[in-house]
Amino acid sequence: MGTIYAVANQKGGVGKTTTAVNVAACIAEAGMPTILVDFDPQANATVGLGVSKTTQPSVYDVLAGRVTAHDALVQTSIAGLRLLTAHPDLAAANVELPREPGSETRLRDALEPLRDEATAIILDCPPSLGPLTINALTAADRVIVPVQTEYFALEGLAGLLDTLALVQRELNPRLAVTGFLLTMHDGRTRLARDVEDEVRKHFPDLVFDTVIPRNVRISESPSFGRPVIHHDPHCAGSEAYFELAREVAARG
Ligand code: ADP
Ligand code: MG
Repeated sequence: MGTIYAVANQKGGVGKTTTAVNVAACIAEAGMPTILVDFDPQANATVGLGVSKTTQPSVYDVLAGRVTAHDALVQTSIAGLRLLTAHPDLAAANVELPREPGSETRLRDALEPLRDEATAIILDCPPSLGPLTINALTAADRVIVPVQTEYFALEGLAGLLDTLALVQRELNPRLAVTGFLLTMHDGRTRLARDVEDEVRKHFPDLVFDTVIPRNVRISESPSFGRPVIHHDPHCAGSEAYFELAREVAARG
């Protein structure tokens, strides 16, 4: 039975997609069948893996019940990693889903059969706490929360934790936070060190030991359509994501 992880934070640009793509790639690289679900209409994870964002069927067709999740999977260039693509049309689901009572469990119901096909299923969430993210959190067993080590890092985390508690209570009692992940950390700056200290002080048990450094190889890898661990397996960014994947597995 595979575990479903949502990578979520309502802030944009904090490293969700980068983390979803690279954690999925690291798990696949370790020999375990893995599925990445791009659940953001921006389709950055899809494009970052070298797949067209107009690919059909996409996760939008899966949500609408036009196709099974299994039949919509695309093999990526990475052995063991399959992708459920996002399409820009997925944005319409933000309007459509709330109109239909009970639609919070759409993604969960669609992904349940895939648990037999993968060790890990990683969901890349959009930058909001809207209907798509609620669907993802309802489907997930675990949440990974990337936090950019910048001023205002803590801002918004309280709102996210409130939403997680609400989903736990109303929709998905098994949901648990695997950890907060400090991303784009620039160890040369005082600010990054201060933010790290503050986040660790607020959430002593929740913050991963692994910190993802600000790394140019990470930022250029999507333009090559591949995860950083394939773009440059030995750079600091790749090493950090390999270490993170081990920590995620150890936390269960
Ligand atoms: P989100 O999905 O939360 O919006 P992304 O993962 O797309 O965030 O990251 C936002 C931008 O920052 C992207 O251009 C990405 O390539 C870049 N980026 C992410 N992590 C790093 C990092 N550790 N070092 C340098 N650039 C990064
Ligand atoms: Mg993203």
